[in-house]
Amino acid sequence: MNGQVHSMEFSGLVAVVTGGASGIGASVVQRLLDGGARVAVLDLRIDTAHPDTFAVEADVSDLASVQKAIDAVAAELGGIDIVVNNAGIGAQGSVETVDEAEWARVLSINVTGMARVASAALPYLRRSGAAAIVNTSSVAATAGLPARALYSASKGAVLALTRAMAADHIREGIRVNAVNPGTADTPWVSRLLDSADDPGAERAALNARQPHGRLVDPNEVAEAIAYLASPRNRSTTGTSIAVDGGMQELRLRPV
Ligand code: NAD
Repeated sequence: MNGQVHSMEFSGLVAVVTGGASGIGASVVQRLLDGGARVAVLDLRIDTAHPDTFAVEADVSDLASVQKAIDAVAAELGGIDIVVNNAGIGAQGSVETVDEAEWARVLSINVTGMARVASAALPYLRRSGAAAIVNTSSVAATAGLPARALYSASKGAVLALTRAMAADHIREGIRVNAVNPGTADTPWVSRLLDSADDPGAERAALNARQPHGRLVDPNEVAEAIAYLASPRNRSTTGTSIAVDGGMQELRLRPV
């Protein structure tokens, strides 16, 4: 439906979506395909990637893997116009309970991974004329969530990285923005719920804790990403859109 509303706004453009084989990334892939983009998925596992994409197995925490995948996408699809830096993993705990190795691992995926993918894609983005990067941050960047020290730090860094990259590349016609989803109904969250004694009750409680009484639909996040990535929008850069029922902007807390 969204594709019909904005017709084929991504027609002629090539988009890369990291973590595009699941959850928010998979919704973004669908939204970009609906808008007429040719889409590449970079993911650790590509068996669940949309069949209409060019799917490349890649690990964003590995520079060689990223460089090879990005070059393969550009060779196969004739360039790169849009990068959706969405691959990320969760991490629970406080600074006392998260060890050094976990800090290094999560930051390498959630933060440096985005820099690696952007760096490898920049030579192609410079030739685009309609280039955009969208990074997936989180409400955790600003909310001060308990027992999420590492994850929150990583997502705060994504916002800072977004602003710094926006400043570095606006003169090259490359916009860089972020989205901050609240708790979204993805396989990631389902996995967490499934590990509870009573997943149904846990899901109901999680819904009730959201400001608008329900989890965020990944398609709602995809819509914000599509707006930020769209060539309809050439002047918005260095900012972020919250898709969280008001948790961030209204300071509405989980109850
Ligand atoms: P998900 O687990 O459903 O999907 C994440 C995808 O990223 C998977 O396909 C996974 O294989 C891939 N991935 C993980 N590590 C990777 C790596 N090293 N290299 C390449 N691909 C890798 O998760 P999701 O809920 O869709 O989350 C997507 C993004 O949204 C993440 O950055 C996450 O931090 C962010 N986010 C999620 C929520 C939420 O509640 N689901 C809320 C805020 C932000």
